Amino acid sequence: MIRCTAARVDLAAIRDNYRALAASLALERRLNDDATPIPGVIAVVKANAYGHGAVPVARALAAAGASWLAVADIEEGLELREAGLGGRILVFGALSVSDVEGVFTHDLTPTLSSPGAARALAAAAARHDTRLRCHLKIDTGLNRLGFRYDNLRRTLPDVVASPSLEIEGLCTHFGSADDAESGQFEEQRTRFAAACEVVRALGVRPALVHAANSAATLRDSRVWFDAVRPGLLLYGLVPPPLAA
Ligand SMILES: *Cc1c(COP(=O)(O)O)cnc(C)c1O
Repeated sequence: MIRCTAARVDLAAIRDNYRALAASLALERRLNDDATPIPGVIAVVKANAYGHGAVPVARALAAAGASWLAVADIEEGLELREAGLGGRILVFGALSVSDVEGVFTHDLTPTLSSPGAARALAAAAARHDTRLRCHLKIDTGLNRLGFRYDNLRRTLPDVVASPSLEIEGLCTHFGSADDAESGQFEEQRTRFAAACEVVRALGVRPALVHAANSAATLRDSRVWFDAVRPGLLLYGLVPPPLAA
C-alpha cells in the first residue's frame, strides 16, 4: 500500500504571525513609554523557509508588509528574485567566489563575514562600477562567521575606507539566547555594544543595526536595535525554554 504524505502550509498563519510580531514590538515600546523607534523585521526564509517553501512563504510575508527577507546563500536569493520577489534580500552566509556575481545581477545584499570576503566583494563591486550596500557581521563569540569583536581596530579600517562598499548594516548572531542559564548571551550583548562603538568611532553610521533571532527577540528588548531577525517565530515556533 502506498500512503501519500502531505504537509499543508497555512500561509495565512505565517502572514498573521508576522503581523502579530510587528504589532507586539510596537506595543511593547508603547507600554514602556519608550520613544526608541519600533524595530523593523527582517524575515528569515533560509533553508526553503524552514521547509515550508521559500517562494510562497516569501510572498505571504511580503504581502504582510515584510520589506526585508533573509536567506542563507546566493542561490536561495536567486530563487526568490526569479520568482519575482522585490524588496530587500539579505544573504547571511559566506559567499564563494564563484557565485558572487548574483549579488550584482539580482540585487542581493551580502553579509561581510571576514576581511577576505570584504576584499573580494570590494573588488567585484569595483569591477561593476558600483558601491555595494552590505552588512558587516561581528563575531561576538560564536566563532563562526564574522569579524572578530576583539580585532576590529585592525580589520575594519580597510573595509571602511573602501569606496566600493557601503556599510549599510551592522549585525551579530547570538548562540544561546534561548538558554537562560548561560552567560553567553550577556557576554555577546556587551561585546556587540562595544563593537558598535568601534564602528562609530571609525565614522561609519550603519542605517540598520540588527542582532536578535527569535529567542533573543523574546528575551531582551535591548537587542532589538533597528530590526529583529526572526525565523522560528514566523513559523509559529517559540524557542522551547522560552515557551512558558
Ligand atoms: C537562522 C538565523 C536567524 C533566525 O533564527 P531563529 O532562531 O529561527 O529565529 C537569525 N539570524 C541568523 C544569522 C540566522 O542564521
